[in-house]
Order: sequence, then structure tokens, then C-alpha cells
Amino acid sequence: MFDLHGRVAVVTGGNGGIGLGMARGLAQAGARVVVAARNREKSDAAVRALHALGSDALALAVDVTDARAVQAMFDEAAQRCGRIDILVNNAGINIRKPAHELALQEWQQVIDTNLTSAFVCAQAAYPHLKRSGGGKIINIGSMLSIFGASFAPAYGASKGGIVQLTKSLAVGWAADNIQVNAVLPGWVDTELTQRARQEVPGLNERVLAGSPAGRWGTAEDFAGVAVFLAGSASDFVTGVAIPVDGGYSSQI
Ligand code: NDP
Repeated sequence: MFDLHGRVAVVTGGNGGIGLGMARGLAQAGARVVVAARNREKSDAAVRALHALGSDALALAVDVTDARAVQAMFDEAAQRCGRIDILVNNAGINIRKPAHELALQEWQQVIDTNLTSAFVCAQAAYPHLKRSGGGKIINIGSMLSIFGASFAPAYGASKGGIVQLTKSLAVGWAADNIQVNAVLPGWVDTELTQRARQEVPGLNERVLAGSPAGRWGTAEDFAGVAVFLAGSASDFVTGVAIPVDGGYSSQI
């Protein structure tokens, strides 16, 4: 149920944070991982870490906001690996400003990186997944798929959209044996939130007070859910959004 030997997984933003945490889980379960991100140095380091776990991983440089580059990346991944079975849409950014200060170009940049990229990658992956006889798509949402935050209007819109995109793709591609699900991380200690902790006063205290688990999440917390949603264990699970948040979204 959790064996991914012979499977190929493309992980956008797989060179750090939650993406690398998931990539490590997939690699440990036997998948060959394609790390798809912009920063080559970070991607090379991630590939070395995945090799150490026994995965014949490789890095392909791509900016997920460039649809043509995304298409070329999937073509190269399929050509070099022979197939694609799993897509993790994880690449994401945030620009922290209240709505009245956020420029249209900044709104667009966040939507393009977090939401449009998931559509573009899923569309580019689709023929490859079909050719494999089916596949798995894992989209990364957020607590802001559920809650609002004054400092993240575009980010919240993109992550709310991720959940609805997940449902549409799940319904549309179920007949192709493609399962599409979302993971909604709670507050996780990564480069993204290290900046947020500096920029949003009191955030650290609020996160700890609001988390029943009493701690920030770690990248390693995402390995298990990635393996579950990528393996045959989840073959009848599609269109759902699973919070992985230490109880944050369950507590009033
Ligand atoms: P990181 O900043 O550590 O990782 C973000 C990743 O996205 C990097 O690998 C980066 O690689 C990649 N990326 C960003 N823009 C692009 C782009 N244009 N093209 C290709 N890759 C890109 O953050 P996290 O690990 O925290 O975030 C991962 C996902 O989890 C995001 O979608 C984020 O919104 C979500 N999330 C995170 C939470 C947290 O608490 N940390 C909470 C909820 C959701 P590179 O720069 O090399 O391109």
C-alpha cells in the first residue's frame, strides 16, 4: 500500500522546506524524485540528500510561473525517467501586506506562483499520468485555505483556490484513475515562516498558543501524508483537503 518503487514523482519546490520533507518521504518509500525548482544550488543539495536515501533523484530547473518552461520540464522528466506517476504542487510564496497596500503586480505574482502553477503543472502532467494508467496529484494548501489573515489577501485567495481546484481535478479525472488531494499545513518552521516570524509581531506566541500540539510543524511531519496520498493506500481517497496542523484548525 505504501510501496512507491518504480514510481516517478515530480515535486515542485522540492529543494527545501515542506517540499523536501515530502520528497524525502517519497524517496524512502522507493520513488524516483524529480526536484523542480529555480535555485540550482539548493536543488543539487536536495538531490544529494535524496540519493543518500536510495532514490535515483534528479533536479530540473523550472520557474513554475512560466507555462512553457513547465511543459518542457515535464517532457524532460518523462524522457529521462520513462514515466510520471505523482505530482506534488508545492511551490509557493507569500507577500505579506494588507489588501490596501498590495500592488496588483504583487497579487498577480502570488496567484501565479501558488495557484495558476498548480493548474499548469497538473495539465502538463495529465497525459503522462494517463499513460502510466493513473496517478496521484497532491496540492499544497494552507490554514489560509480555511481562515482569513489581514496580512495575506492574495496568499489566502490562492490557497482557497487550491482546495477548489483540487475538487474540480479530482472529479474530472477520477475516471482516468487519477486521485487529486490537498494537504493543508499548519504553521511549519521553514524559510517561508522564518521571514514571517520577523515580519509579523507576536506570530510565534500566537502559533504556540493556538496549536494543541504545542509546537511548530517540521518538514519531516509531511513525509507520511505524502506517502499515503502517493501510494495505493489512498486509491479511493480523492478531492479532500487534509489538515496537517497539530490540531490548529480543530481548536476554537
Ligand atoms: P519554502 O520557502 O521553504 O519553499 C518554497 C519552495 O517553493 C522553494 O523550494 C522554492 O524553490 C519554490 N518556489 C517558489 N517560487 C517558485 C517558482 N516561481 N518556481 C519554482 N519553484 C518555486 O516554503 P515552505 O516549504 O514553507 O512552503 C512550501 C509550500 O507550503 C508552499 O506552497 C507554502 O505556501 C505552503 N505552506 C507553508 C506553510 C508553512 O508554515 N511553512 C504553511 C502552509 C502552507 P526556488 O526558490 O528554488 O524556486
